[in-house]
Amino acid sequence: MAGYDVVQIDTVGAAADAALAERRKVLNLIGAPIPADLTALAPDAKVLVTTVRRGVTRELMAALPALKAVCSWGVGFDTLDVGAAREMGIGVSYTPGVLDDCVADLAFALLLGTARRLAEADRYVRSGSWCRSGAFPETVKVSGKRLGILGMGRIGEAIARRGAGFDMPIGYHNRRPKADAPGIYFDDLAGLATWADVLVVACPGGPATYRLVNAAVLEALGPRGILVNIARGSVVDQAALVAALQAGTLGGAGLDVFEEEPSAPAALVAMDQVVLTPHYGSCTQETRRAMGDLVVANAEAVLDGGALLTPIP
Ligand code: NAP
Repeated sequence: MAGYDVVQIDTVGAAADAALAERRKVLNLIGAPIPADLTALAPDAKVLVTTVRRGVTRELMAALPALKAVCSWGVGFDTLDVGAAREMGIGVSYTPGVLDDCVADLAFALLLGTARRLAEADRYVRSGSWCRSGAFPETVKVSGKRLGILGMGRIGEAIARRGAGFDMPIGYHNRRPKADAPGIYFDDLAGLATWADVLVVACPGGPATYRLVNAAVLEALGPRGILVNIARGSVVDQAALVAALQAGTLGGAGLDVFEEEPSAPAALVAMDQVVLTPHYGSCTQETRRAMGDLVVANAEAVLDGGALLTPIP
């Protein structure tokens, strides 16, 4: 049936999905395979709604002849073929800004949780070990420690603001120094890791950052150092991370993202000096709703003849 405005291939939250379906003609392919006859099904669709989880391929965009925009949920775009979209003259939007606070909050939860061994301490109480074995071992102080940030972008700056509240000197590494960014700029990641007590990874994924945090960076962070990764699993050499933690050349790690999701390697699961979360940095009711609303606002802006509100730069 012709006449669809939108093809939607992943959920952007129940409320936003419903709002979009109520106001526009949506071909709902959430969780479904892409039909072979998509071109015939949706020849007029101007907008494709997707997520960073499901991504978008050149082939899918090519199958929609009237496509003007891909509206994606999430701030990463490593799964979206942005280059192909540009070649085809198709705009791509994402949802920057609205999730910074929650992802930065989680970075701090992981940092505190790893340094103070929070998950292990919780298990200590629940299992009765406290009664049997007495006081919990000493942990690591967070306040005043040096906070290194790989990727002083929107989320990196939100992490730095939280660090300031814990009296932490800030250092960061980007490809270029950022005007007005807090803290000391390091043009070399290993130099930042040598300086820092805690290294938080907050840069994008993709080929340019693939395994940027390698064995040498982890060694520079050192046996008392803590790595926090809320960015992408691909940015950290996971085998080198496991080896450093096993050898005690790295102190601990708080990880929201992994090389192969949705799972964490058994070697990490077996360790007490790590805190592991299921890639849920933006996963609060408030932020997920704001992300869904922003996807719908982008889609409707294009359908109403306007420009994308938050295009990928
Ligand atoms: P952003 O504002 O674009 O900031 C990214 C920062 O990384 C920039 O300061 C950039 O500076 C730096 N960077 C980029 N490439 C680099 C490289 N090759 N080497 C060193 N630094 C580099 O992005 P954001 O909104 O803060 O988001 C950052 C990332 O967080 C996202 O891409 C996503 O992967 C991740 N994220 C995770 C979750 C979660 O649930 N865990 C949620 C949202 C986002 P330069 O350009 O100067 O290098």
